[in-house]
Amino acid sequence: MADIRIENLRKEFGSFVAVQDSSFTVHDGEFLALLGPSGCGKTTTLRMIAGLELPSSGKIYLDGEDVTFNRASARDIAFVFQLFALYPHMNVRKNIGFPLLSQGMPKAEIRQRVEETARLLQIDHILNRSVSGLAGGDRQRVALGRAIVRRPKCFLMDEPLGTLDAEFREVMVHELRELHNRIHATTVYVTHDQHEAMAMADKIAVMNHGVIEQFGTPQEIYAKPATMYVADFIGSPPMNFMRFTSGLKNGDTSILLDGVDVAVPEIHQDVAESELALGVRPEHIRFSDASPLRGAVYGSEYLGTNQVVAVETQGGLIKARVPANRSFRIGETVGLEFNPAKLALFDCTSGRAVPSQLYQETRHG
Ligand code: ATP
Repeated sequence: MADIRIENLRKEFGSFVAVQDSSFTVHDGEFLALLGPSGCGKTTTLRMIAGLELPSSGKIYLDGEDVTFNRASARDIAFVFQLFALYPHMNVRKNIGFPLLSQGMPKAEIRQRVEETARLLQIDHILNRSVSGLAGGDRQRVALGRAIVRRPKCFLMDEPLGTLDAEFREVMVHELRELHNRIHATTVYVTHDQHEAMAMADKIAVMNHGVIEQFGTPQEIYAKPATMYVADFIGSPPMNFMRFTSGLKNGDTSILLDGVDVAVPEIHQDVAESELALGVRPEHIRFSDASPLRGAVYGSEYLGTNQVVAVETQGGLIKARVPANRSFRIGETVGLEFNPAKLALFDCTSGRAVPSQLYQETRHG
């Protein structure tokens, strides 16, 4: 298996920049998710790593070797597409073994490798079945089998679960991660679905308009979003923003919001007077009659184990995830208390997080 390193990778289609100067490393055996909305440049990044698209500039290294201009077939990479075309007239065994047959591998060795792969994917009982009668999940397993059987240096997957229904998808998310834990293949996985990325990946690159906004572990991206875009994209419901205008000084440990002093993690930068946003996740809010920060209940969504209550405050509508055992009247006034250790501050002009104690602990790349 192998490291994948990309340096200042850029792709232009005419005057349109699809990928802007991306740099990251996927270490040997790591699972990276490229996450972002449609059109943000995920597939283009993946296609450049695969060798299916030439970069406008930048470098791609596979296991330390510069492969930027190598043909796809010379990169020893397996690419799993969303709609992986299986050969309908062949059975499962022949579909999985096909890449090895094309390489001219002896039949006995193919047989052994196919059976090993099928056992790994738990489809050894359907090896002699025709692929045309298989359900979506099994078709994907066969598709994966065809990729794994070659034992490539790494896997690139482009929304491989995109066509599956929700139930199967959940099962496959679990299976893919399990498979990864067993074979430790360096993997880059494209998805627009934050739940897939959070559940499977060791690292996530969150993309927006061709730019990597943040690269980090799922935990870092959730707890320490580098930008308002990331804070808004990750989490369900996403992070709340309460806008206010102020300056901040290095060492400040509180802000003035709606005339109320709110404790925040210690600020590590002077910020001139500008529009700022306090970022608070719904799960870090609780209702407290004693809190001077007040709002009126706008609506609530009962979720069984908890509920999401929307509250209209002077700083805007905010959503709190609170225990399900209390009912609220629309218009009822509530006091809001935030967990001070979890609060982020953003500069609304740049969209970037203001450095604070919250962001101090970890650095990754
Ligand atoms: P999706 O999930 O919708 O595929 P994505 O994040 O994978 O989204 P890309 O497919 O990488 O996005 O496309 C990024 C941008 O580049 C899009 O605006 C797309 O229209 C544009 N693009 C991609 N390929 C080409 C091409 N061959 N010619 C011109 N523009 C392209």
